[in-house]
Amino acid sequence: MAIATLNPATGEVLKTFTPLSDAELEAKLTAAATTFETYRHTSFEQRATWLRAAAAILERDREAYGQLITLEMGKPLKAAIAEVEKCALVCRFYADEAARMLADVPIATDASQSFVCYQPLGVILAVMPWNFPFWQVFRFAAPALMAGNVGLLKHASNVPQCALAIADILAAAGFPAGAFQTLLIGADRVAPLIADERIKAATLTGSEPAGASLAQAAGKNLKKTVLELGGSDPFIVMPSADLETAVATAVTARMINTGQSCIAAKRFIVAEAIADEFEQKLLAKYQTLKVGDPMLPETDLGPLATATILADLDRLVKACLQQGATALCGGQPYAQTHPDSPLAKGYFYPPTILTNLPVGCPAYDEEFFGPVALLFRVPDLDSAIGLANCSPYGLGASAWTQVPSEVERCLRELEAGSVFINGMVKSDPRLPFGGIKRSGYGRELSREGILEFVNIKTVWIR
Ligand code: NAP
Repeated sequence: MAIATLNPATGEVLKTFTPLSDAELEAKLTAAATTFETYRHTSFEQRATWLRAAAAILERDREAYGQLITLEMGKPLKAAIAEVEKCALVCRFYADEAARMLADVPIATDASQSFVCYQPLGVILAVMPWNFPFWQVFRFAAPALMAGNVGLLKHASNVPQCALAIADILAAAGFPAGAFQTLLIGADRVAPLIADERIKAATLTGSEPAGASLAQAAGKNLKKTVLELGGSDPFIVMPSADLETAVATAVTARMINTGQSCIAAKRFIVAEAIADEFEQKLLAKYQTLKVGDPMLPETDLGPLATATILADLDRLVKACLQQGATALCGGQPYAQTHPDSPLAKGYFYPPTILTNLPVGCPAYDEEFFGPVALLFRVPDLDSAIGLANCSPYGLGASAWTQVPSEVERCLRELEAGSVFINGMVKSDPRLPFGGIKRSGYGRELSREGILEFVNIKTVWIR
């Protein structure tokens, strides 16, 4: 994929970038490895000061960075600005908490003194996606830098200006040159990089094929990886649920980021007794959503980020419809239904609800990365949990019920990295984030996240 800024709202290529030459890449690797040797000895206080300075820059320039995000990947500007603010939050969180999280832990044994200490690993490679182009990077960078590691970022090829801006922010905040660098390179150069002995570990957020490819290269070279991959999160609604809140949350949980979020609610699994009412209320809310120019404040849904994402979504929805599903609304890209509209020039897809989904159609085991709600009806909680768990993914799950025994069953039996009861799945710096099954492995955020890229060293002294 070319490294370029292409406005997904208009299809216009605004700026192209030349990938790093081999010599330029080598210079960045050398700078990272050299910087690590001094950076690892900086104090927590010093790193925290730099990270708080980064938070202040993010907050000061939130509008400008928000516009850059919207320009490159199309999310509505208000959501892009909120994303930038959340990056400041994660910087402050780790600035405040890292020293405590990584303090030595004494353990009583037969030694006169024994304890666990946590030391940085070195240069960590982060391969990141475009859907939250700032947040995904900062949630890696903040803990990695606080732990004393240095970072190299291979960002998605469609967000190069975001990638460069992030490295600039961290440099302007005071981090030494070489502590965090952006590599403008294509995906084909990731596997050879993993083999480089200066790179000690890697993290990837993205699709399953990308994760498998990185894990294969890392496995061959015996390097640690964290993978945050796709999801097809269930959103279970039982008869005792507060239906108004559940429906309003269902819309937000599905439409966040124009539906392009790994933890978006994708499969709505609703008890038969309330399914008609849920469906009517959801449809009514979908019909009020405003699709359009993502720079406008009144816009709820912008374009999808790339032509490929649009084509993939179109293919999945058409396959469901051909196999007998019903579209309650939407179901085709604007370019097909409104060829003369300005929306036809960009990658716009309408809010869509699919129901009557036949067993075997893609709704059961594929990820729909866009504003498409998949609606399933079930007779009881057993069927709801069974259907939720039949997905190959296991990232998040949301369940709505007021019955304590149902709450207990959902939180114990749902196969997912997180379960939210009567609320939508979301990321929070204080809580671990990650998945099981084909959604990947390892955790980001919280203490679990910062521990992924440290040497957990056992010390035993007589
Ligand atoms: P993608 O194609 O996998 O791209 C993600 C990143 O991986 C990009 O930097 C991409 O570079 C790179 N990449 C692609 N193929 C690679 C390969 N063979 N080896 C190494 N790197 C490779 O994913 P996407 O379509 O942009 O993003 C959507 C996916 O990400 C969805 O499945 C979504 O659920 C998942 N996601 C997961 C989380 C989570 O936390 N679990 C969060 C956000 C997104 P290029 O751009 O240069 O191809």
